[in-house]
Amino acid sequence: MQKGTIGVTTENIFPVIKKFLYSDHEIFLRELVSNAVDATQKLKTLSSFGEYKGELGEMDVTVTVDKEKGTLTVSDRGIGMTADDINKYINQIAFSGAEEFLEKYKDNANAIIGHFGLGFYSAFMVSKKVEIRSLSYKDGAEAVLWECDGSPEFNMEPCAKDSRGTDIVLYIDDDSKEFLEQARIDTLLKKYCRFLPVPVKSDGKVINDTEPSWNRKPADLTADDYIKFYHELYPGQDDPLFWIHLNVDYPFTLTGILFFPKIHNNFEIRKDRIQLYCNQVFVTDSVEGVVPEFMMLMQGVIDSPDIPLNVSRSYLQSDTAVKKISTYITKKVAQRLEEIFKTDRKDYEAKWNDIKLFIEYGMLTDQKFCEQAMKFVLLNDTEKRNYTLEEYKTLVEAQQTDKNGDIIYLYATDPIAQYTYIKAAKDKGYSVLLMDGQLDNHFIGLLEQKLEKTRFVRVDSDVIDNLIVKDNKKEADLTPVQRAILTTIFRSQTPEVDKANFLVTFEAIGEHALPVVITQNEFMRRMKDMAAMQPGMNFYGDLPDSYNIVVNTENPLIVKITKESNDALSADILPLMEKIDEYNSEITKLRGDNTKDQDAETSQNIKDLEKKITDDRAEQDKLITAYAEKNSTVKQLIDLALLGNGLLKGEALSSFIERSMNLLK
Ligand code: ADP
Repeated sequence: MQKGTIGVTTENIFPVIKKFLYSDHEIFLRELVSNAVDATQKLKTLSSFGEYKGELGEMDVTVTVDKEKGTLTVSDRGIGMTADDINKYINQIAFSGAEEFLEKYKDNANAIIGHFGLGFYSAFMVSKKVEIRSLSYKDGAEAVLWECDGSPEFNMEPCAKDSRGTDIVLYIDDDSKEFLEQARIDTLLKKYCRFLPVPVKSDGKVINDTEPSWNRKPADLTADDYIKFYHELYPGQDDPLFWIHLNVDYPFTLTGILFFPKIHNNFEIRKDRIQLYCNQVFVTDSVEGVVPEFMMLMQGVIDSPDIPLNVSRSYLQSDTAVKKISTYITKKVAQRLEEIFKTDRKDYEAKWNDIKLFIEYGMLTDQKFCEQAMKFVLLNDTEKRNYTLEEYKTLVEAQQTDKNGDIIYLYATDPIAQYTYIKAAKDKGYSVLLMDGQLDNHFIGLLEQKLEKTRFVRVDSDVIDNLIVKDNKKEADLTPVQRAILTTIFRSQTPEVDKANFLVTFEAIGEHALPVVITQNEFMRRMKDMAAMQPGMNFYGDLPDSYNIVVNTENPLIVKITKESNDALSADILPLMEKIDEYNSEITKLRGDNTKDQDAETSQNIKDLEKKITDDRAEQDKLITAYAEKNSTVKQLIDLALLGNGLLKGEALSSFIERSMNLLK
């Protein structure tokens, strides 16, 4: 019988392990079962090399709960350990600076256990006493019993054990009684040991799949196999849209299968969906840092012995091996998408709505992915047709290039609300894209950066001829008096709309186009949209919406209003306008070149003239407004345009209805 002290520099390591590793207690089971599996595989290897000539026999690892005795036992039929082995591998946990390290990584049990090779010692997190009973595979080996009660002292003596291999017997602590519940143990085995390569038996049943799909050759797997595997991993979900089988052995080793799940509309990045394994041992399901953020939408398994699991997250993110892995996965996902796109475009298009968000998100957040995705990202038009970027350019280039050589991509965000504008564009032979996705705002910005000489404009941001300005654009043909009269007529008759400003403009957009169109400036709208998404940009958010009331000078109704108002008002308005012009030129003369030092008299004269201008303008406004008040056609035209944009509300809406009823009488 041997007595000794475990080789630690710290006075007593076990209370420290217990205290610091509290939250992760359950991983002791993973460690012990993994050790048992390792020992089993080692013996199989020795046997295959002819270095072990005996019978292998049944090689299952068994986990047994004995509630009465208060023990949990992990047994294997692997290589076993001699007393020398135990001395070497178990008794000498020689390390220095232990306390300092433990303090630093106290929240990360994986780090501590991995760092010291403390796998076996994690048993003390839940035990008051641990026994090792082992019989080595070596010829003439003697069975040995090692026991330790959590103090640095252990006992080691020969014992009776007929069968080769190791039993680790845990005498479960009073405050860890949960680990004597069969159900709890089974849950843990399912979580950590589900895909271990050696059969693990608990309560008489094998709990694991020793040949998980990701370790098999893609050629040996059918679509049904993948789908079945997916449902095993994620019960109760819809079939995945597609999957990617990862398999690389240089410059790092990695296997796995990633699935693209069917996402149900709402865009939630659900973390912890991809599971990380290390040689088929479950490690974690929080993979931030290992896969790019946009892939948090994916599900599946990654298995790699090369991911340093025993370190903190921030270290993981800066680790070069991990970066390579992340780049590799990104490339693979992009390649797979391109492959589906190329080989089965119909299928790809059918899935497009489900993957659009993912692809756009990936393009926005990952430069490399963006480059690759430029080939297979699709644009949808308002007729539900799909185009690649290349195809769309070819489609619209000839028609939609403006006089500066910019290709204008027209888009709508709400095909119902923007119906009139879409129709106007289509009547011109233009195409209109549908950009109603959650990320489309940002995506448009991205495409504008990536595509040369290409601009996106929302179809309602101006009248169509101004959206795509051609060389032969017709200007509104109005005299200054007509322009002044019409401006005031329309401005004075526009009802007040909460948080909205209106500016009257004139365009010659054809006799068949609508008489009055309301448009919203693209730049301001984008700023406001962005402000709405980012708190802190209140400046833009608080500004009123600014709309243009575009009066179509070629529409017959407007032609009529122009003529009638001109006939009725120009005799009064023209002299006022001429006078204003005179006052203005006088002011200019008085100011001369030097605006700085005027004498008192000159300043007074300028002030008087300015007052006269203001008065004349007021007079002009009064005359025109009085005329406009009686013109129900103007009111009706404005209200109809507002109505078409959902801007006619409250009192203005009710007087519109009343006015309309009167017209029917
Ligand atoms: P690690 O597994 O990281 O090396 P452990 O503390 O878990 O650290 O184990 C230390 C060593 O003890 C192992 O490397 C192995 O040589 C030996 N060992 C542990 N469990 C067993 C077992 N069930 N059968 C044979 N050897 C074992």
